[in-house]
Amino acid sequence: MSKLCVTVTADTTADLRRKRDEVVGADLVELRLDTVRDPDVAGALAGRTTPVVVTCRPPWEGGRFTGSEEERKRILADALARGAEYVDVEWKANFTDLLSSTGGRRIVLSSHDFRGVPADLRERATAMRATGAEVVKLAAKTSRLSDCLPLLELGTKSKHDHTVLIGMGDCGLVTRVLAKKFGSLWTYAGDQHQIGQIAASDLLDRYRFRTLSDDTDVYGLVGRPIGHSVSPSMHNAAFAATHLDAVYLPFPAADADDVLTFVRAMGIKGASITIPFKVSLFDRMDEVYAVARRIGAINTMKLQNGRWIGGNTDAAAFLGPLRERVDLRGARVAVLGAGGAARAVAVALSSSDAQVTVYARNAAKAREVAMTASADAAALPPAPNSWDVLVNCTPVGMYPKSNDTPLDASLLTGQHVYDLVYNPTVTRLMRDAANAGCQTIGGLEMLVAQALEQFEWWTGTKPPAGVMREAALKRLAEFMRNENHVV
Ligand code: NAP
Repeated sequence: MSKLCVTVTADTTADLRRKRDEVVGADLVELRLDTVRDPDVAGALAGRTTPVVVTCRPPWEGGRFTGSEEERKRILADALARGAEYVDVEWKANFTDLLSSTGGRRIVLSSHDFRGVPADLRERATAMRATGAEVVKLAAKTSRLSDCLPLLELGTKSKHDHTVLIGMGDCGLVTRVLAKKFGSLWTYAGDQHQIGQIAASDLLDRYRFRTLSDDTDVYGLVGRPIGHSVSPSMHNAAFAATHLDAVYLPFPAADADDVLTFVRAMGIKGASITIPFKVSLFDRMDEVYAVARRIGAINTMKLQNGRWIGGNTDAAAFLGPLRERVDLRGARVAVLGAGGAARAVAVALSSSDAQVTVYARNAAKAREVAMTASADAAALPPAPNSWDVLVNCTPVGMYPKSNDTPLDASLLTGQHVYDLVYNPTVTRLMRDAANAGCQTIGGLEMLVAQALEQFEWWTGTKPPAGVMREAALKRLAEFMRNENHVV
């Protein structure tokens, strides 16, 4: 089992101690003495109940210590003398006397590379280990998912060598969550977001860090940017509720090659696909299901007998909530927008025998989507009394521009309005439509339905009703709270 080390930073030693004592669920607390203006080792260590790693990082290794190297060495030596469980010493500092003072015991010899994964990673690890340091820590900036693979290779070969391997940056999250798989003795969590750290509570609760092992099945969301996606919350909640040994991570890939190299090396079982990879990965699958072929895009991939199969759960997920309310045969449906979602929606509707018209600000794109779905194309806005069902497939009305609407309230003359936007869960378009007497459907229903279909396709298991929806609502509420906090 890999351990969890929570990093704390503060302006003063007293604050550092207070924050140290507020940490819950950690095996170790890293005390960043370089962040306080009055570094006092005795004060930082006094009364601790959790083992600590004392770190006093210089700016040349990404830290904030402003004193001399001699002063820094005195602080680290003081921490060793006062019995700190671990002291982090930078490999490049060449503080060999600190290492020899304990015979390497309690020393975390660290190397941080902010330019990328060094080509000599393995040789570096060997040289660092040769110093006799108890723990060797290698952290390197990752810009592509596949940058994590040299770390995986090293960790797999040195599982019992007390190594800590960290991929810094968003692409390296997998090295933090799957620390055990990467052969790390421990991983770091905290609020150092600039290097890709996440909160300990996210690691423990969303990703169930304590339950993950080498055998855990790994799934994820491939896209970019995906920082605000609710999919990890939905799928991880479903894995927890069904007691499956599986985890779902964000995979902010650089390009399609990066995705395929990474998923093969990591043994990923399946992934959700979002912008900008829905078409580029479609072209790289071993097989694509018929609906996805008709749409021309995939939103899901699954490894089956060593082959990657592409599918698209958007069409069925879109139709589900609508079919419960409307008989689509012969219904006049106005689709607003001509992007990826409009394409899936138009194909789904025309395969249900609806009369579809695609309205978009770009006439050529509207025609192209209409052709894919054997539908008509027209210029925005749809005329009054020309539709029974209206579907918004543009992002208009999405947070933070929640007061925008794709269609003036005076034009809302039909029976049903379906807004694919799910943040906010009730949009201005939906409010206007309800006031005009229309039935409304929000994008959250489709969002949950497409995730449910993916989950069932990958695992053959149905999560309990409501689990994914509640997780999505909770994540959206968290997102709104954090955004408001920032504002
Ligand atoms: P997309 O591929 O970027 O397409 C967006 C479409 O909206 C394009 O046709 C774009 O026109 C048009 N558009 C953008 N701003 C517009 C404006 N101000 N006025 C008129 N048209 C505008 O995006 P997508 O993947 O189709 O997603 C569209 C929306 O659906 C997003 O809000 C997304 O979150 C939501 N969605 C929800 C679900 C769900 O499960 N609920 C699933 C998929 C998508 P141009 O091409 O001219 O820019």
